[in-house]
Amino acid sequence: MTGPGATAARVGLRTIVCIKQVPKAQELSVDPVTKTLKRVGVPSEINPPDQNALEAALRLREVHGGEVLVLSMGPTSFDESLERAIAMGADRAYLVSDRALGGSDTVPTANTLSAAIHKIGDFDLVLCGEETTDSSTGHVGPGIAGHLGIPQITYCSEIEVADGRVRGTRMIEDGAETWECALPALVTIDFGCNRPRAPTLTGKIRVKRGGLVTHWSAADLGLEPSRIGLRGSPTIVAKVETVQLPDRKGRIFHEEPAVAVALLLDALRNDGVVRA
Ligand SMILES: Cc1cc2nc3c(=O)[nH]c(=O)nc-3n(C[C@H](O)[C@H](O)[C@H](O)COP(=O)(O)OP(=O)(O)OC[C@H]3O[C@@H](n4cnc5c(N)ncnc54)[C@H](O)[C@@H]3O)c2cc1C
Repeated sequence: MTGPGATAARVGLRTIVCIKQVPKAQELSVDPVTKTLKRVGVPSEINPPDQNALEAALRLREVHGGEVLVLSMGPTSFDESLERAIAMGADRAYLVSDRALGGSDTVPTANTLSAAIHKIGDFDLVLCGEETTDSSTGHVGPGIAGHLGIPQITYCSEIEVADGRVRGTRMIEDGAETWECALPALVTIDFGCNRPRAPTLTGKIRVKRGGLVTHWSAADLGLEPSRIGLRGSPTIVAKVETVQLPDRKGRIFHEEPAVAVALLLDALRNDGVVRA
């Protein structure tokens, strides 16, 4: 149950968790001039579903032993999130960082991350979040699985590993369905499916000692310049419009409940929110 680059026999499960650093959701805003997301000087965090993916990986390690590695592509400021992931319990981290990767859409992002996973090698499972809070395409996980030629199960709220296979449960409109496939595989994890643990003092000391985050450039991964960054990105943003929300009236009815409800219904009817 090992992926590309398998070496001598090892014990336990080796999971790679892809994490992206994103601006904190409540701080998200669009630059009115450039019409792009404001990222500079904005407090950031590990993309929330990726925190759930990391927690799922740490729980699998508690059952099966092995290693949890975290991987990210982005500027060196992303080290902050990788170090937090180590403080939460990850064993080691990898950051692919290169100016040539700037402007990557989901195609070169998936291509770059899969090249890094291939270089790490000898893995059983890759976990991603279901999507990010800053671009929310949900393309990257399936793209990585496609590049690596491994099976994938998306939008899982529970995962188990047994007998060289992974089983993932996903919620659907009228219940839940469970899918299973052979390892190595990629699974994307639902936001909020577990409670990510806090960093520990031991974890913070491991970070402080250093040496646990490896940096790779595009050249280290042998990435072809035409397949990365802006040049390798087929998405063209033709137009971005920001929506100006009208001010809320904030009207409060202070009458007795029976009267207040009648007044509220009248107001909703007048505004065309409810009929009759
Ligand atoms: C219309 C549009 C235009 C864009 N234009 C630009 C642009 O001009 N310049 C620019 O820089 N970006 C741009 N982006 C953002 C860029 O495409 C994404 O940041 C990147 O491709 C990842 O896509 P995503 O955030 O939708 O990830 P998703 O596919 O939603 O992410 C799913 C999962 O994949 C993993 N993942 C995703 N990204 C990373 C990462 N970097 N490292 C590690 N794991 C990761 C995480 O586990 C994540 O939960 C644009 C996005 C859109 C939708």
